[in-house]
Amino acid sequence: MILHNKFMLLKDKQVAVIGGGPGGLTLAKLLQQEGIAVRVYERDLDKNARVQGSPLDLHDESGLAALRKANLLDEFRKNFLRGADKKRIVNERAEVCFSDHDHKVEENFGNPGFRPEIDRGALRKLLLESLQPATVVWDSHFISMEKENDGWLLHFKNGKSFYADIVIGADGANSKIRPYITGIRAFYTGVTMIEGNVYDAEKTIPGICKWLSGGKIMAFGNAQDFYVWMNDGGHIGFGASFKTGAINADLDYNDKAQVLEWFKTTFFGWSERWYEFFEHAATPFIPRPIYCMPLDQAWEALPNLTILGDAAHVMPPFAGEGVNMAMLDALALSECLISENFNSLQDAISSYEISMRERAAAAAKESLENGEMMHSEQALDKMLAFFGDH
Ligand SMILES: Cc1cc2nc3c(=O)[nH]c(=O)nc-3n(C[C@H](O)[C@H](O)[C@H](O)COP(=O)(O)OP(=O)(O)OC[C@H]3O[C@@H](n4cnc5c(N)ncnc54)[C@H](O)[C@@H]3O)c2cc1C
Repeated sequence: MILHNKFMLLKDKQVAVIGGGPGGLTLAKLLQQEGIAVRVYERDLDKNARVQGSPLDLHDESGLAALRKANLLDEFRKNFLRGADKKRIVNERAEVCFSDHDHKVEENFGNPGFRPEIDRGALRKLLLESLQPATVVWDSHFISMEKENDGWLLHFKNGKSFYADIVIGADGANSKIRPYITGIRAFYTGVTMIEGNVYDAEKTIPGICKWLSGGKIMAFGNAQDFYVWMNDGGHIGFGASFKTGAINADLDYNDKAQVLEWFKTTFFGWSERWYEFFEHAATPFIPRPIYCMPLDQAWEALPNLTILGDAAHVMPPFAGEGVNMAMLDALALSECLISENFNSLQDAISSYEISMRERAAAAAKESLENGEMMHSEQALDKMLAFFGDH
């Protein structure tokens, strides 16, 4: 028998989302707008915590689709980084081989090929402001939970504990919720990125700002990459990525001179123009070994616990799919949880998880393949052929 009572599955239930990243906040918004009781437990101290990393390009069929469902597309249009998707592709000598700055349209919503970018902080703010006050419980670093009645008693580092009927882990690549569902772990892809950030860039590196022109620079040479992006507030980020068996554990990421020496040696043959980034960067630099979930992962669905986004399927960033998959998971999961077509929460979660794993595996495969190609000797030629054709 199929139940036809709207929201019967979540009637009188308290939902806890662990993690206030793009996936968790999108899910909270989509559930809350249906009248469901939801709290987000986030380890950051408050809403002003700095969100690190490159801007995110949202895709029409995934990230933007979730925002559309959440009625947040107009807010997104007000906040996206106009022109941040423009690019220059250069070689290791910093010679420009391709640029779309003079012909790329800056706003083209509705076109499936348009992938507008947004600063991570702006995306978080936009989602937060759409939620009811006190939906997010800050300074809540989840550490463990145990079964209580039909739900879970959650414990946090600050000593507090809360009960929830349903728990959704949206706590990123190192999820503490995931082990309650599966023991399957992500594998190292063999690529590591060293990330740096230059603040107040107009003052400190004006020449590079002009070169960047609010877009991005992608450099390829000797099977190594250098990626430069513009964040909100005059802040430039960069990442030098390369294939390595293991990250150099002796490198002191607080020591600018040491990291610059590392770059000169490891990225041998690269122009001195790249040194300027390291000379003006804030410390510490951030090593980011790139991980991926096995493409064939599977587990049995539970009746009151699931995961989404990086917690479910971390993947390399080389197809720009991570955040889009996280937000699409939020959309798909919310639809299953409020659907009238399932007899039980376990059925709803199972349906979500089966399609989520399939979707994520396809995106992860593309991300892995792109990562291989972008760290090969032919990377520059292949990237030029790809963007030349688009
Ligand atoms: C170098 C790099 C570049 C990337 N570039 C892109 C890109 O261009 N495009 C793209 O789509 N994706 C990119 N990604 C991936 C993208 O950042 C992620 O896929 C996306 O942020 C996943 O969203 P999420 O909500 O699942 O997790 P996250 O964004 O990781 O959010 C998890 C949240 O949970 C919180 N949290 C973690 N642990 C706990 C805990 N124990 N208790 C409470 N809260 C907790 C965190 O503070 C955080 O707020 C990149 C990733 C990296 C590393």
